Amino acid sequence: MNPENYYEVVAADLDRYAKVPDDVLLEIVTRDGACMWLWANDDGPDWEDDEITDRDAAARLCAGCSVRRLCLELELRTAGEDTVGVWGGLSQEDRREVYRVWRARREGGERS
Ligand code: SF4
Repeated sequence: MNPENYYEVVAADLDRYAKVPDDVLLEIVTRDGACMWLWANDDGPDWEDDEITDRDAAARLCAGCSVRRLCLELELRTAGEDTVGVWGGLSQEDRREVYRVWRARREGGERS
């Protein structure tokens, strides 16, 4: 899958959350997000490899997160193209690309 197709697939996968209110997304992500548990328990990742990229960090941190897509939907809504850091299993560069496609889909109406 080329990158553009990947961004399309991810954005399309988020269509199912289009009608979920922001506060509901926030409640679920803060309750069930894998990183929320880590930070709440003062047990953040202890990565000794300082050379990891954002993509590596996203893959490691978010890989097993059960609310990854909800987190991504929330981040795209709240931060949009100004998104920074690792959220929703994607680096900021990837998220900005997904945002571009996601916004176009929403402005064009949901297709789900
Ligand atoms: S997807 Fe990643 S950043 Fe979002 S809640 Fe899950 S672990 Fe945290």
